[in-house]
Amino acid sequence: MARIGIAGAGIGGLAAAAGLAADGHRVTVFDRWDEPRAVGSGLVVQPVGLAVLDGLGAELRPRGRAITRMSGHEARSGRVVLDVTYDVEGRGRTGLAVHRAALHGVLLAAARAAGAELRLGAAVTGREGGRLLTAGGPTEPFDLLVDAAGSGSVLSPLRARTLPFGAIWGNVPWPAGTELPRDELRQCYLRADRMLGVLPIGRPEPEGPEMAAIFWSMPRGGHAAWLARPLEAWKAEACTLWPAMAPFLGGVTAHDQMTMARYSHGTLRRPWDDGIVHLGDAWHRASPQLGQGANMALLDAHALRLALRTGPVAEAGARMWNARRLHVAAYQAMSRAFTPQYQSDSRVLPMLRDHVLVPLSRAWPARRILPALVRGTMVPPVMAGLAEGGTAAASRIGGARPDHGYPPAP
Ligand SMILES: Cc1cc2nc3c(=O)[nH]c(=O)nc-3n(C[C@H](O)[C@H](O)[C@H](O)COP(=O)(O)OP(=O)(O)OC[C@H]3O[C@@H](n4cnc5c(N)ncnc54)[C@H](O)[C@@H]3O)c2cc1C
Repeated sequence: MARIGIAGAGIGGLAAAAGLAADGHRVTVFDRWDEPRAVGSGLVVQPVGLAVLDGLGAELRPRGRAITRMSGHEARSGRVVLDVTYDVEGRGRTGLAVHRAALHGVLLAAARAAGAELRLGAAVTGREGGRLLTAGGPTEPFDLLVDAAGSGSVLSPLRARTLPFGAIWGNVPWPAGTELPRDELRQCYLRADRMLGVLPIGRPEPEGPEMAAIFWSMPRGGHAAWLARPLEAWKAEACTLWPAMAPFLGGVTAHDQMTMARYSHGTLRRPWDDGIVHLGDAWHRASPQLGQGANMALLDAHALRLALRTGPVAEAGARMWNARRLHVAAYQAMSRAFTPQYQSDSRVLPMLRDHVLVPLSRAWPARRILPALVRGTMVPPVMAGLAEGGTAAASRIGGARPDHGYPPAP
């Protein structure tokens, strides 16, 4: 059993802490916040991510909304430009849309229940051998350091490319006067330079109201201009593009209800070094267009857990990478290819999207490939060799074929 120091009590760090502590390792998690917290709005946990949560005993389903479909239309033509049904094969599979704080909350509870120690108010500034350097001085030595400090990690050598578009996100109560379904992510586009969307996220607080996450994309330098613009002018523009958005915008009464998220893209070729492993956004960053970042962090944590179960600590990083690299490379490549079709200044790409890609996506076999892409299983999420005994088929998570109901990891 190893002494493991984790930098970052976010999604990947807490999932790793919960799994590794449950396996008997001595785990300490460091975070810069004085209170553990999740900044942000809604996100979709895909079936692969739910499988990892099941393996940790983290019950998220009551805190969110099952999502059966993601769809989008072009504002002017009304043309459908995105339409993915999760469960084309009729096996009852869905994504789960949640408030980020709900996901963070169940992971925090799982990490604590498994016996992980949390040290808060401990901003990590670097490392020296097996010790993390924090504002309060160097930590005790660890056998393995896990860098789960997200997109701003000071431990990760990744220099990601800032993407030209980001988005403002906010949470509003689900309005009474809407006809939008409560089990679909709906989006509206104007070319690729405007995107607005509504994601039902259930009840983040068990006694609280049912909520929706709403978003509006904008160039990364456009936030200051948006803040300077009267709120009502923005709402009017949004409602002209997509009248169905109106009841949701009624819940936005101040600019600071919407938070700007900036996106970047990049992947570390080798997410480990002597005594340290990088996971989640510290290893790979992408726009949230494919809705995979949190799932990828969960899968990395799961692969690291299996790597430590089946091999020596010194090889854990390399083994985690080997199990995950195909999935990471494939999703990073697809995110890179798809993001500009939905978020860019290009006039050509949205035309290509509307007139070539979308018609193609309706043809067989794309009708079946796209749901697998969104579910996170287009390529094996964790390769064979790490699955228990090393004999499971390549696409298994903890011994279960991801296409068959995702039972928990053993
Ligand atoms: C607007 C938006 C929408 C998204 N939607 C989706 C979606 O639908 N589906 C999906 O799967 N993903 C989505 N993502 C991506 C997803 O949120 C990230 O990929 C995921 O949170 C990465 O997890 P992580 O553990 O690597 O980092 P994080 O969850 O960001 O955690 C990093 C942690 O490290 C801590 N930390 C940072 N620096 C330090 C330091 N120096 N010292 C100590 N602690 C530190 C932070 O406080 C934080 O707790 C979205 C992202 C954004 C921005």
